[in-house]
Amino acid sequence: MKIQTASPDLEEKLKKIIRDVPDFPKKGIIFKDITTLLKHPQLLKQAIDAMTAPFLEAEIDQIVGIESRGFIFSPILAYRLGTGFIPIRKPGKLPAKTVKVSYALEYGEDALEIHEDAVRKGDRVLIVDDLLATGGTAQAARKLIEKIGGEVIGFVFLVELTFLNGRKKLGDVPIHSLVKY
Ligand code: AMP
Repeated sequence: MKIQTASPDLEEKLKKIIRDVPDFPKKGIIFKDITTLLKHPQLLKQAIDAMTAPFLEAEIDQIVGIESRGFIFSPILAYRLGTGFIPIRKPGKLPAKTVKVSYALEYGEDALEIHEDAVRKGDRVLIVDDLLATGGTAQAARKLIEKIGGEVIGFVFLVELTFLNGRKKLGDVPIHSLVKY
């Protein structure tokens, strides 16, 4: 598995601006609040550029974003890479016919859905979310795309909680994260 990183300088700046909120949404969880980064024009731009950089030359048909904070970054990456954007959402939100996968979260259990006709057979897909924790969410996203005939060619996250070993669940494709804790 190829491991890619942001420049140490950018990673340090991002670590300084991402806010730790202890005991949210549950006791014992340190929530990584990215809103403090999102409102900073230069760092937001640098973060987007660094998330996109490894995939500028890659052949990608679709960017898939995971609800809800994944939706902040995924359409911007789609715009930058010249791809389409496909949403993966919580159950009951997508209007047309869907497929569903259940998964375990760092704090609870959940399920995700995608439109059954979201990709064409063999479409090369990059999955985007704000944060990789246990990997359950991203793994569920991968299963959904494969169920409907797409090929997952990589993952992009702003933040990775490396001590939770989420990477191990995601298979042998490039996994790009900018800020590692
Ligand atoms: P996981 O499935 O455990 O990898 O969890 C990843 C998903 O949960 C992402 O969509 C994150 O937005 C959210 N998440 C999990 N842990 C945190 C955390 N400590 N801070 C912020 N978001 C989190």
